[in-house]
Amino acid sequence: MAAAPLSFALERNAGPVAVADRAKLLADPGFGRVFTDHMAVVRYTEGKGWHDARITARKPLMLDPAAAVLHYAQEIFEGLKAYKLADGSFAMFRPDANARRFNASADRLAMPQIPEETFLESIRQLVRVDRDWFPTVEGGSLYIRPFMFASEVFLGVKPSSEYLYIVILSPVGGYFKSGAPAVSLWISQNYTRAAPGGTGAAKCGGNYASSLVAQAEASKHGCDQVVFLDAAEHKWIEELGGMNVFFVFEDGSIQTPPLSGTILPGITRDSLMTLARAEGLTVREQPYSIDQWRADAKSGKVTEAFACGTAAVVTPIGRVKSPEGEFVMGSGGPGQTTMRIKQKLVDIQRGVAPDTNGWVHKID
Ligand SMILES: *Cc1c(COP(=O)(O)O)cnc(C)c1O
Repeated sequence: MAAAPLSFALERNAGPVAVADRAKLLADPGFGRVFTDHMAVVRYTEGKGWHDARITARKPLMLDPAAAVLHYAQEIFEGLKAYKLADGSFAMFRPDANARRFNASADRLAMPQIPEETFLESIRQLVRVDRDWFPTVEGGSLYIRPFMFASEVFLGVKPSSEYLYIVILSPVGGYFKSGAPAVSLWISQNYTRAAPGGTGAAKCGGNYASSLVAQAEASKHGCDQVVFLDAAEHKWIEELGGMNVFFVFEDGSIQTPPLSGTILPGITRDSLMTLARAEGLTVREQPYSIDQWRADAKSGKVTEAFACGTAAVVTPIGRVKSPEGEFVMGSGGPGQTTMRIKQKLVDIQRGVAPDTNGWVHKID
């Protein structure tokens, strides 16, 4: 892993988006629909390793219809953000943790690891080239999406011998369209996200594919997100489709389900636990059952709950619904502890508060 990072050849986009059009997009980008002029690409071939690293024009890919990813879903991804600091410079939040998680996902999906330094360099170079794409909307950031997929042309079932690693950038505003102060959750009774021995701890597209039907069920019941329970007992709260979950108790302590192999180890989750402990809060990583949550919400023992992840940061949970009925967290709106630790995290990410943990990586 100590190999020197690849250097990225720069091929500028000859037909970038016009400045006036870009300005219009950046004023109201939404989430995940606007993309910048360039992408980073690195190829992997068995026997040769990683090679052909480039920053090039973002454009559609040419894929053979027999490319392995289209059939067997050998694909992983990451999600992180570049922020603009108070002094106008750019910074990433804990990108080294994303690099390590990317390689852990690669291991699980029988894919090659990419040197951490190449992963980090691909992002730094791309953000530098597309720095004029930073959104102008309040609270905006550049969402960074590294991903890797099997590109070998072969229908046999085996780990691919060729891969493409790509990074694209998407200027983003808020994640939830509604801008609602709190989200509602649907308890999935019919579907699970991950099982012991499965891929729940890996960030792979397949996990999302299998969660969509549950998400559609949530929408049908007027809820924003699904909360998944464990596969074995259908009792223990695991996480949402793409976010980890926390509970705040009346004694001020906070709790989140433990990383048991079926939960995605969120970097936001880890950061919030560190910040809460530094504040002197008691933080537990302990299983919590759906029946206990319902009872604790009704008795007032649990006063707040929130979801967290890079895309949505920290999002208060307001209502929780299932065929057995509905319960409300506190007043149904954002809770005080939730909003305080959210602010703490956001202030560090944006360079407003001191970064005592070495989490903020500047891009010069
Ligand atoms: C990415 C992701 C999260 C959040 O991870 P962060 O590192 O905090 O962005 C949580 N759950 C799932 C299923 C995810 O894919």
